[in-house]
Amino acid sequence: MKKIILHACCAPCASYPIKLLLEDNFEPVVFFYNPNIFPYKEYKIRKDELEEYCKKLNLEFFEGEYDIKKFYNLTLKYKDEPEKGQRCSLCFYMRLFKTAEFAKLKNVDFFTTTLTVSPHKNSNQIFEQAKIVSKTLGVQFLEYNFKKQDGYKISRMIAKENNMYTQKYCGCMYSIAK
Ligand code: SF4
Repeated sequence: MKKIILHACCAPCASYPIKLLLEDNFEPVVFFYNPNIFPYKEYKIRKDELEEYCKKLNLEFFEGEYDIKKFYNLTLKYKDEPEKGQRCSLCFYMRLFKTAEFAKLKNVDFFTTTLTVSPHKNSNQIFEQAKIVSKTLGVQFLEYNFKKQDGYKISRMIAKENNMYTQKYCGCMYSIAK
């Protein structure tokens, strides 16, 4: 089995991508890097639940730094943009860049993200950012569009079976107000 670094935003969204990657003969190494999430209490709920789920599945789990200042510095200019705008592109870029750096650090050839499972996100917007990161750092991004083939529906079913917490907003403080 080949290792792949799976950037993951929460347990419900990670559930189906993990299942699919295992079926595709990959060993996902789960990387939680989401300093966009506000407040910290919400961040911790999402992180702890994903960590628990990984333990249950016997998968490696790593947490990146909660450097929320970095997120604000990067996106403040676009705070009033609607979701799917420039703020979100930068948010994707920031998270994917750190994921690819982590893959390099761990000598893993591939990375991908659970972010494409959400029907509220444009997968092409995520892929665009991933391509820039991949070219810059020389780590291969695998374009999994996890929302396809009922991916979102299946992820919700797994979340329900496992009594997972499901959040009411994307993550950043700007998305709470929406
Ligand atoms: S709405 Fe979601 S993707 Fe967009 S900036 Fe906020 S946390 Fe990031």
